[in-house]
Order: sequence, then C-alpha cells, then structure tokens
Amino acid sequence: MEAVQFHPTPLFPSGILLTEGCRGDGGVLRDVDGHRFMPDYEPEKKDLASRDVVSRRMMEHMRKGKGVKSVYGTHLWLDISILGREHIEKNLRDVQEICEYFAGIDPADEGQKGWAPVHPMQHYSMGGIRTKPTGESQTLSGLFSAGEAACWDMHGFNRLGGNSVSETVVAGMIIGNYFADYCLDNQIDIKTSVIEKFVHEKESYMQELVSRKGTEDVFRIKNRMKKIMQEYVGIFRDGEGLAKAVKELEELYIQSKNIGIKDKQLNVNPELEEAYRVPMMLKVALCVAKGALDRTESRGAHTREDYPKRDDANWLKRTLTSWEEGDTMPTVEYEPLDIMTMEIPPGFRGYGAKGNLIENPLSLERQAEVDQLTEKLEADGKDRFEIQDALMPFPLQAEYKRKNKRLGDK
Ligand SMILES: Cc1cc2nc3c(=O)[nH]c(=O)nc-3n(C[C@H](O)[C@H](O)[C@H](O)COP(=O)(O)OP(=O)(O)OC[C@H]3O[C@@H](n4cnc5c(N)ncnc54)[C@H](O)[C@@H]3O)c2cc1C
Repeated sequence: MEAVQFHPTPLFPSGILLTEGCRGDGGVLRDVDGHRFMPDYEPEKKDLASRDVVSRRMMEHMRKGKGVKSVYGTHLWLDISILGREHIEKNLRDVQEICEYFAGIDPADEGQKGWAPVHPMQHYSMGGIRTKPTGESQTLSGLFSAGEAACWDMHGFNRLGGNSVSETVVAGMIIGNYFADYCLDNQIDIKTSVIEKFVHEKESYMQELVSRKGTEDVFRIKNRMKKIMQEYVGIFRDGEGLAKAVKELEELYIQSKNIGIKDKQLNVNPELEEAYRVPMMLKVALCVAKGALDRTESRGAHTREDYPKRDDANWLKRTLTSWEEGDTMPTVEYEPLDIMTMEIPPGFRGYGAKGNLIENPLSLERQAEVDQLTEKLEADGKDRFEIQDALMPFPLQAEYKRKNKRLGDK
C-alpha cells in the first residue's frame, strides 16, 4: 500500500487533473522566474520524463525556493499557451474548460496570463486487494477484484501513464470470465438471517455514532490526517517523518473511536458520513505509512531520502497488510518474489541513475537461463504460447490463447 502515485500537474489548489497530454503536445513547466526548469534536471526527457520523476523534480525545485508563492501555498506553472489557441481549442478543450471553471484563467491566453498553477498530488494507488491471476482474493474465497481496487501485479511499484485503461479492459475481460465460471460452478446459500444480522449490526453502529457522547471533532481528525499524509508520507519520505506519521495516525485512530456528532439525523448528514468513513480512511493511511516506514529502500513511486537505492537484494517482496479486529495498527507481512520463476527478471531499465540499484545476483542467472531456453525453443520451432509456458506458465482461458496471424502465429 505504500506505493502511491503522484501526478505532476493537477490544477492548484483544486486538485483537478490537467492531462499529461498537455506536456505530450509540447506544453512546459515553468518556475517563479518563468524559467523552463525540467531540462536542467532531465536533459534527455525534459518535461516528458515519467510522472514520478517529474513530480519529484517539481518538489525538488520548489524546495530550492523556485516555486510561486500564493495564498493557497507554493506551486509551479504549466504553460500550454505556447501551443496556440487553435491547437488548445481543438485538442485540449477539456483542459481549457477545467482551467476556466476552476482557476478562472484561459490557458490559451498568451504569456503568463495563460499559465496554469499546478502542484503534484496523489493520483493512483498501486496497492490493492491481493489477487491470484484469476482475480480471486488469495485469502477470501469467492471475492474477485479487478482494476484500481486490485493488486493484480500489472504495475509493480510504479504504474505508467495509460496503463489503467489497459488494466481495466484486459483484467475486466479475463477476470470477468473467471468470475462467471466461478458463479457457474459454485452455489452459495446464504440465510436471510445472516444478512439481517449484518444489516442490524450496521444500523446499530450508525445509531451508536449519533447517540455517542464523544468529544472528538471528526473534521479536526480528518484535516490532521491529511496534513500528516502530505507532510510525511508524500513524494519524499524518510524514517524520522514516517515514524512520526505512524505514531500520530495511530493516536488519531484511537481518538476516532470517541468522535462526537452534533447533528443527530440518520440521513442527509455529512458529519455522520465523515464519522463513518474517517476511521476507515485512517486505517488505510496507517497501512500506507507503516508499509513506507518498514520498507527501507526506494522503489518506483516510494522514495526514501534516507534509503535512495532500489534494493533488489533485500526488498524484492510484496507488502501484505491486514487488520485484526480491535487492533490499532495493521499487521505487516511480506510475500517474497522468486526471480528464478520470472520471464523478465528485474534489472536496470535505463530509468534513474545506474548506481542507484542494489542488484540481486539471481537476476543475471535467471536472465541467462531465459535467453538459453528461448533460443533453444525457437530453434525447435515452438510457438509463442509454448515458449511462454516453458518460461513462466500462468492460467489463461483458451480463448485468449488463439493464434494471431498479425503476431506471426502459424
Ligand atoms: C483524473 C484522472 C485521470 C486519469 N487518467 C488516466 C489516463 O489517462 N489513463 C489511464 O490509464 N488511467 C487514468 N486514470 C486512472 C484510471 O482512470 C483509473 O485507475 C481507472 O478508471 C480505475 O477503474 P476501476 O474500474 O478500477 O475503478 P473506478 O473507475 O474507480 O470504479 C469503481 C466503481 O465502484 C463504485 N463503488 C465504490 N464503492 C462502492 C460500493 N461500496 N458499492 C458499490 N459501488 C461502489 C464507484 O462508484 C465506481 O463507479 C486517471 C484517473 C484520474 C482520477
């Protein structure tokens, strides 16, 4: 859960996302002096570096005092005015409307007048319900999950832009089929009394929330949680800050058991809704912060300033967090990964500085094995499915293993 993606260009301060297409089309980031700073940090990829890199560089630049001060806090500028009004109104119409509605500016206006205030913000969670390749939970039989809610292993610690669309389409198709098969093969009889029991439990919990004589203010707790997450569990993290975050979030979670509600209505009551949701949000926040504290390396979207290297020798494992009834902290366990069963063993992918990786010696061994096996199978005339099965078999319904002439299948 500690793998949280930040997007570089949400509009500031509303947080509405301005698409990566802005920079894809040629828009650039500028600082307080109007200087285009990304080429200084990333001479090759410039403003088009991956979103985690751009987000980190923006924070780094603002830390150097190059951000723009405003009543809402410090931000940078996104300049798409250089693309010209015609291009913006034809290709980036939604961006123009968002800027108009939520910041009162027209990004097609020439010069600084059209620059949009932006700041990196939380965007996507790489963590989720741990599933088998079929999408079924590994621990709760019959629970299936796909898309952003799931950890189906498509993104690792760093989802790349656009990959959610492929995940929702591909996982939706494959897992939907597995789920349909599961429903065909399984009959569940649930007694009405069991459902009633759970409904009554929820009803009495809501009743208890409104009648409780608690002294804690839910909005104070929520705002404090937001501040802690932003300050200590954001783009840059370190052990000291994370330890503070975990300690204070646990205190807030304990305090959340004593929330008092002023408005006693059971419906149309935002205070009650928050009182119901905030303790759950705190549990998720604690899973993120505790996982980040314990993971003493930097990997994908998880950046530890005190442990800047990706450590494949010690940290090639998934974090699994669970919550025991009555606990005030999550239980954190790890699921090790076996390099010797991988089709593409981990290695340097030309991303970040080369010395920033503590390699696992098994990676080279496995790569040599994969190369040798692939060469032999290709020489024997095996097709891509046979090669895949030999290198890294995984379950997939027969209809997705059809031959495709465009891919060279015979
Ligand atoms: C502004 C923005 C821009 C993005 N741009 C891109 C992009 O360009 N490319 C890309 O690949 N990805 C993009 N993403 C990420 C991508 O859109 C999401 O990861 C993806 O849509 C998630 O799809 P999903 O079906 O898993 O979840 P969701 O789309 O979040 O669907 C979950 C659904 O479950 C419903 N739900 C929630 N709780 C309950 C409940 N208790 N009972 C019943 N229903 C419930 C919700 O109402 C919702 O309809 C973007 C995300 C954002 C926020």
